[in-house]
Amino acid sequence: MSEKELTTRQSLRFDELWSYDPAPESPDYVKIKEQYQLFIDGKFQEPESGNYFDSVNPSNEEVLALFAEAGKKDVDKAVAAARKAHNGVWSKMPAKERGKYIYRIARLLQERAREFAIIESMDSGKPIRESRDIDIPQVIAHFFYHAGWADKLKYAFPGVDPKPLGVAGQIIPWNFPLLMAAWKIAPALATGNTVVIKPAETTPLSALKLAELIQDADLPPGVVNIVTGAGETGMEIVRHPDIDKIAFTGSTEVGKIIQKAMAGTDRKYTLELGGKAANIIFDDAPVNQAVEGIVNGIFFNQGHVCCAGSRLLVQEGIADELVQKLKMRMETLIVGDPLDKNTDIGAINSKVQLDRILGFLSESVESDQRIYQTKCDLPEKGYWCRPTLVENVSQSHRIVQEEVFGPVLTIQTFRTPAEAVSLTNNTPYGLSGGVWTDKGSKIFKVGKSIRAGVIWANTFNKFDPTSPFGGYKESGIGREGGIHGLSPYLELS
Ligand code: NAP
Ligand code: MG
Repeated sequence: MSEKELTTRQSLRFDELWSYDPAPESPDYVKIKEQYQLFIDGKFQEPESGNYFDSVNPSNEEVLALFAEAGKKDVDKAVAAARKAHNGVWSKMPAKERGKYIYRIARLLQERAREFAIIESMDSGKPIRESRDIDIPQVIAHFFYHAGWADKLKYAFPGVDPKPLGVAGQIIPWNFPLLMAAWKIAPALATGNTVVIKPAETTPLSALKLAELIQDADLPPGVVNIVTGAGETGMEIVRHPDIDKIAFTGSTEVGKIIQKAMAGTDRKYTLELGGKAANIIFDDAPVNQAVEGIVNGIFFNQGHVCCAGSRLLVQEGIADELVQKLKMRMETLIVGDPLDKNTDIGAINSKVQLDRILGFLSESVESDQRIYQTKCDLPEKGYWCRPTLVENVSQSHRIVQEEVFGPVLTIQTFRTPAEAVSLTNNTPYGLSGGVWTDKGSKIFKVGKSIRAGVIWANTFNKFDPTSPFGGYKESGIGREGGIHGLSPYLELS
């Protein structure tokens, strides 16, 4: 079928014959304050500077709320509160009591799951389907899982007497705002540490809502402190001499700055950084399933996923069929209002991120790469990007080597498994990867040869709190989740 015929059939099927009526989730009962303070020592406190910044809803560019900008003095206060809570209360409390508090946070989140899903979609631009079905359930699962560990650490690490490190400084990105907060806070609390955490500048709302929930859970003051601000606030946390461990998730660029700042100190750190995952499709793979896996791997959540399958490697024999089917499937994807339950792809998180994606695409045009974008309508206001394929690329192109962090998929073909592995490993990153084939032996052989922390077989982007997550090479240091994610918060001697 030619591309023209394909397009005609698509428009007949999806535009003229039927379409979905709008099915918006109502934000009416969600309470968003005009202004949020810093959450320090169990109380909401004004920043010393008196400065505030705004966070917008990227789907309509409207300001959602103002957030306090934490400076050095505020970070000092937060660290002092965390230290006092650690030494005085949290580390002395019987472990099973600590577990009960974490369990209570999970239960309260369960009760307020819908509210959290809505505010997450409003602040980040991700579709409600993702925040409702993936982010918030995973957040809850993380707190439940770690509540269970609190009084069983000596079984996780037999023969040693595991002790908390003290105060953990945590810095998180905007792509999974509340989920990244859960990945950080839950293991820290379960292991007896207290926390000073900074959410990303463009998505602070769900963290401040979590602060309200933490108050409702009666967590002892100072156990969790939440400071908002930009990169400088993050740097104040990194530099603080009374912080025992830094847990950072974000870009490789900032990860390197943090690593330099930590060099020469005896403080621990874990870095969860960028990725450039390949999704490898062999010619014996179930093609229709693979198409779903590719779409799930790169287009859902706007490609704002560190482990996104942003490089498609397809074996030559099935390349034409697979790419045609992929284009057909892409034409059905609905881009638009994040609060509409039919939406597949929401808004790009910020203008800065949209400009970065568009920068990559205009460079592709200049380098004679072939760009295919779906024909869907885009809303007038807000930051949007159509699902995009980039063909005719080579391994040295920037779009194949660097993280775009948008709904953009490059396509390359290969002939042999060895070639697929070599293309896969030829980037600075090593966070994740996918292998699609009918043969179990091929999954193991290829999977073992890929230098990446997570490899999915005949599926993609599946998460579970029991499973460790983290990268090789420039994708980071350390693991989060599972038993592996507990040890970076413990002294194990
Ligand atoms: P980013 O620019 O590195 O920012 C991450 C966090 O660090 C934000 O809170 C940011 O504050 C803060 N920050 C910025 N400069 C800092 C500095 N000099 N010192 C201390 N903190 C600083 O990353 P992003 O753009 O928000 O997130 C996207 C990146 O995260 C992607 O590269 C993605 O792959 C990665 N990521 C990795 C994982 C993983 O598990 N490996 C998971 C999710 C995301 P501001 O918000 O104010 O800039
Ligand atoms: Mg926002």
